[in-house]
Amino acid sequence: MNGETLSRTCKADARLTAAGRIFLWTGVLRRLFLFCFRKKYIEASIETRTGECLRCGACCRLAFAKCMYLDFDCDGKASCSRHTSVRMPNCVVFPIDSQDIKERDLVAHSPCGFYFRK
Ligand code: SF4
Repeated sequence: MNGETLSRTCKADARLTAAGRIFLWTGVLRRLFLFCFRKKYIEASIETRTGECLRCGACCRLAFAKCMYLDFDCDGKASCSRHTSVRMPNCVVFPIDSQDIKERDLVAHSPCGFYFRK
């Protein structure tokens, strides 16, 4: 992680209270539940998803301040050391819906590259 990215990350995470981190964990569990039991909901929601990943790494900082597999290129782009191997279900399907976007916005100032058509 380069210095500028680390600085932005720390400032964004500093806004999080313990209650905020617990809230983010409910989102992690929600995505896991949806992945295991509501695949049709995920498929329908992702049909309305537009955009592309900007590799900001915000969704890699929801369960913990920083996922152990997250790193940043010299140009500040996030990369996952497990991207081409086995990843958590939560990571594979993120973002499932606009609730996920709201949650990742709690740890990042810049917008996610994805959004959902209504
Ligand atoms: S928050 Fe959105 S843009 Fe950023 S890494 Fe995750 S999916 Fe990509």
